[in-house]
Amino acid sequence: MKLYGGIETGGTKCVCMIAGGPDEVIAESRFSTTTPEETLLKAITFFREQKKIHNLSGLGIGTFGPVDLDPDSATFGYITTTPKPGWANVNLAKRIENELQMPTVIDTDVNAAAMGEYLWGNAGGISPFVYFTIGTGIGMGGLFNGSLMHGLIHPEAGHMILKRDPITDPYAGFCAYHGDCFEGLASGPAIRARWGQSSHTMPDQHPAWKLEANYIAQAMVNTIVLLSPRKIILGGGVMQREHLFPMIQREVVSMLNGYVKSPQILNQIEDFIVPAKLGGRAGVLGSIALAVQAFN
Ligand code: ZN
Repeated sequence: MKLYGGIETGGTKCVCMIAGGPDEVIAESRFSTTTPEETLLKAITFFREQKKIHNLSGLGIGTFGPVDLDPDSATFGYITTTPKPGWANVNLAKRIENELQMPTVIDTDVNAAAMGEYLWGNAGGISPFVYFTIGTGIGMGGLFNGSLMHGLIHPEAGHMILKRDPITDPYAGFCAYHGDCFEGLASGPAIRARWGQSSHTMPDQHPAWKLEANYIAQAMVNTIVLLSPRKIILGGGVMQREHLFPMIQREVVSMLNGYVKSPQILNQIEDFIVPAKLGGRAGVLGSIALAVQAFN
């Protein structure tokens, strides 16, 4: 069995793993994301120790962004403009690669999670498909013609602009850049700020969910008409509230209003918009998946 290293550098926590796949996890370490120096030192120390024991075929990094993924850029693998203190302009990929002397691949945490779902999860090798994480933030990754989506930078669909009715929802949103974009309206912190309660503890009957399903459905309709994905996977902390799925599915069908004449939408929406299979380990297993795809 080939073994790979994976790092998920998230906004609040960092997870390091040695694995061959989701059923072959050899070692794992979790710690808080603090300063870049402290966080990277912990990660590098973990992999140095593991390298003494195991032969690793490569390392995958799935990181919060925005991150420079243009291989021709002088700042390839750098975190770019994050509001996270100390992390702007941090050289992530090359620093780790140089310290560990291992082939390294980097992508966004959501593209990594998408690759995990593609290889081992609910995407089952289908392309194009998209993966959304809806939790502390909102992000999207995905594959198009079998390749992870990159372009000008990478998808930032958490910041798509949605319709908000200021009468039914006077909350102006918290995104520092746009106010009431998707993330500003529908992420976990937005739910907490609007209703004064965590999405984890609200009862299923709370009116928050109707509004939440509406915003998520708007974003899914935009995604469907823009990218024509064959599957949409929804993960992240907010989506652990499973009652949201049928609400979103109904809203999507209703908003499309028969325009997209596909049996997946009209008759099998429950197989079209689905939960993530890799759950809470999606990010770090996705980083392993990046390495598997790049160095197998
Ligand atoms: Zn925004």
